Amino acid sequence: MEENNLIWQNFIGLLKNRISTVSINSWFKYCKIYKIEDAVENNKSIKIVTISTSSLFIKEALIKRYLETIEELMESILGKSCNIEFILEDEINNIKKDEIKEQEAPPQERTQTSFDLAVEKPPTYQQTIESNLIDKYSFDNFIVGESNRLAHTAALSVAEQPGKLYNPFFIHGKSGLGKTHLMHAIGNYIKSTTNKKVLYVTSDKFISDFTSINMNKNSNYIQLFKDKYRGIDVLMIDDIQCLEKAEKTQQEFFHTFNSLYDMNKQIIISSDRSPDDLKLLEERLRTRFSWGLTVNIYPPDIELKKRIVKNKMSGHAVASLVEDDVIEYIASNSENDVRHIEGAVTRLYAYAAMMGPHKIDLEFANEALRDYLKNSVYMDSNIAKIQKAVADYYKITVEDLKSKKRTANINYPRQVAIYLCRTYTDESFPKIGLEFGNRDHSTIIHACDKIKEDLENNAQLKEIIREIKNNIG
Ligand code: ADP
Ligand code: MG
Repeated sequence: MEENNLIWQNFIGLLKNRISTVSINSWFKYCKIYKIEDAVENNKSIKIVTISTSSLFIKEALIKRYLETIEELMESILGKSCNIEFILEDEINNIKKDEIKEQEAPPQERTQTSFDLAVEKPPTYQQTIESNLIDKYSFDNFIVGESNRLAHTAALSVAEQPGKLYNPFFIHGKSGLGKTHLMHAIGNYIKSTTNKKVLYVTSDKFISDFTSINMNKNSNYIQLFKDKYRGIDVLMIDDIQCLEKAEKTQQEFFHTFNSLYDMNKQIIISSDRSPDDLKLLEERLRTRFSWGLTVNIYPPDIELKKRIVKNKMSGHAVASLVEDDVIEYIASNSENDVRHIEGAVTRLYAYAAMMGPHKIDLEFANEALRDYLKNSVYMDSNIAKIQKAVADYYKITVEDLKSKKRTANINYPRQVAIYLCRTYTDESFPKIGLEFGNRDHSTIIHACDKIKEDLENNAQLKEIIREIKNNIG
């Protein structure tokens, strides 16, 4: 199994060189290798690779558009000619169902009594259904602040008493604020504390499952769909706004909702908008969404952002090298989107892994993240502001800094100012040189090196720089 996953990842890696990411996400995202078998064809040994797909629609598209590419890439990975076959996830589940039946039913013949019929429950699809939960999202690693406190508290209550308190539970907020994280946290909590059946799906997955029934109008498919979505205790549908584009699926979702709701099963929905703002959803759905509790996750404030940065940094080998002002720097310059904050930490650490610094200070962070943190407040503090703050601190004038004077009382502040410009603005060496009396490139580099070196041994200078920075208007 594990090996098949590796082969599949390898395959997707190669595929990225052939087709666009959008196409990969549209057609290959939910596919997996179901099995790989050896076979002989025309006296040659070959491999038969069976790929599972979530819907007939996708299967047909893969065959029509990508069959040759898949064959070719699989051949390059497995080193043999490959025949590619497809299997629908629903078919796999049917196979599993039969296997369970076989295990449960003793092989010997026996006459069935009416008592048998009454107690013998046929195994259902639910027994093999996957929850689709991602383990790493838990309440433990969800950092709480003012902006998400209500959502967090309500989510925890739902997790503790599914189906009892708030039904449906509707979470909305902008992208990257933790909706999906909270949903999985609820699901994981319920799974670890009860034996309730939990199902997490994105709206797109719900749509594709529903579309495959429409393509396979046989009752078996319809039953499977119903078993999957109505035979569970907790249904979580992520990004419900995607249903706006799928009218038929909305109707089906309405029935699914009613059926679960009537049985007091917990329904959890997320969206990038409030129910009222889902204008293209049927009115009757919007009304139902407001029956339970609706909570909004707001963008994090700076305090929460700092705690999130700290949390995301912790636990890595280089975490102890990070200086405090780096946390502040990332928190105040990243967007209000936790995904963006995580991206900053990932980049910083990737850069650290490459460079092997002995500390991760502001300068290092700025170097690593200057393209990523676009709205850097430091970058807003342009050269003129830095010159003013430095001149004020050393009680000289900005003209002195730009002049040809080379006396120590002016030269050193000038070097400090140049260093600050280089570290906290996005300006190039030539531009900085220009602003300091048209000095050349090498003078600028020399000034930066000099101050960097002094900073290593001179705690007082560190303090001075901190103070000047605070005064940069
Ligand atoms: P959404 O579904 O709202 O777009 P996600 O739940 O996918 O956002 O969150 C994006 C990323 O940010 C995830 O990796 C998630 O773990 C992380 N994240 C969001 N909010 C928090 C938080 N309060 N504490 C820790 N991590 C968070
Ligand atoms: Mg999400």
